[in-house]
Amino acid sequence: MYDFVVVGVGPPGARFARRAAEEGYDVLALEKGRVGEPLACSGHVSTDVWEFTGEGAREELFQNEIYGARFHVDGPHSDAYPFYKREVASNVIDRVGLDRHLADLARDAGADVREEHTVTGVTEHRDRVAIVASGPEGTVEFEAKMVAGCDGPRSRVREELALPEPEEFLHGVLAFSDEADHEDFVDVHLTPPTFFAWRIPRGEAGVEYGLAAPPGVQVTKHFEELIDGYEIDVAHRCSGAIPIGPPDRVTTRRAFLVGDAAAQTKPFTGGGILYSMTSADHAAREIDPDRPTTLAAYEHAWRDDLEREQRLGRWIRRAYSLPEPVQRIGLGALSGEIGVHMDRPTSLVSMDHLKALLSRA
Ligand SMILES: Cc1cc2nc3c(=O)[nH]c(=O)nc-3n(C[C@H](O)[C@H](O)[C@H](O)COP(=O)(O)OP(=O)(O)OC[C@H]3O[C@@H](n4cnc5c(N)ncnc54)[C@H](O)[C@@H]3O)c2cc1C
Repeated sequence: MYDFVVVGVGPPGARFARRAAEEGYDVLALEKGRVGEPLACSGHVSTDVWEFTGEGAREELFQNEIYGARFHVDGPHSDAYPFYKREVASNVIDRVGLDRHLADLARDAGADVREEHTVTGVTEHRDRVAIVASGPEGTVEFEAKMVAGCDGPRSRVREELALPEPEEFLHGVLAFSDEADHEDFVDVHLTPPTFFAWRIPRGEAGVEYGLAAPPGVQVTKHFEELIDGYEIDVAHRCSGAIPIGPPDRVTTRRAFLVGDAAAQTKPFTGGGILYSMTSADHAAREIDPDRPTTLAAYEHAWRDDLEREQRLGRWIRRAYSLPEPVQRIGLGALSGEIGVHMDRPTSLVSMDHLKALLSRA
């Protein structure tokens, strides 16, 4: 019997597996495909990401550094409203490489990470959890004291255990052009209803164009308009779901969700790499597989840390739906140097931001 079976080896699955193995627990981590594949993420993260990686990660994964974002209420030729920091605000990184790097750290810590194992069944018993997976040798069964559902937005673990779903799923699409671009600003277009489209320079790795929007929005049409506006040819299209709004409960008696399965994402960008790994750390710190009551401590810990950020993030997102003239006035008034941390909207009320505002004067 394992202490933990982790389902899904994205950033939170790998991070939790590593941390739990370092605590001395017996950890099995199952990934349905190859770690990191298929890609469905921009890999645009705050520089805090390097606090979660190991030796040599930056040299291996770094693609470009970003100082700010230019907001547009319309397409590429519309007015740009820049928001920027004096220091590097974020990095663009190789997301497939990040997942592989984090999985290697989990293996180094002693976790048994197995690829090509798709979990198809999870049954909770009073004293254990039974997990069924389909692997290269057919169907295999495992038992664990607890199961961690780190299996993304359409989580099988969540479904099997009848845990509630996130409030909303956005549909995100990406594609790439291959010209090198080392510019240090991303572009954000408030064109698709209630969310946005983007252009991210990825250094030698080319340029990424993307868009996310809720169901009902004609994502393909808006994406074609974006590409046409930039007058560019793109390849390697990919897409994925972005969960927004965590459900009220992400734990049962012997199971817990981490990452997109629990909608631990930023409501105003859909970003979830940092929140998911932060939550994985809360899980590893709080949960003792021999004491199911410790799951409540995990629920409290991650919500205490992220709930206010997510609440404020939802308010920021509402601004994407304001009438265009109001957006122009707001962006015109607020643009310029800022001191806000991209993962922590509450830093709008911080000394750093105040200093940045004063320096404009
Ligand atoms: C278009 C798009 C762009 C994005 N851009 C950014 C960005 O720039 N920055 C950012 O921070 N976030 C971004 N995100 C969000 C980010 O990708 C997620 O928040 C993050 O990947 C969450 O990690 P996760 O491991 O919870 O989910 P996932 O990355 O989806 O990983 C889940 C893992 O579980 C595995 N799995 C699923 N089901 C099973 C099963 N039954 N058995 C075994 N394994 C299973 C999957 O194969 C996968 O490896 C973006 C998302 C999208 C869709």
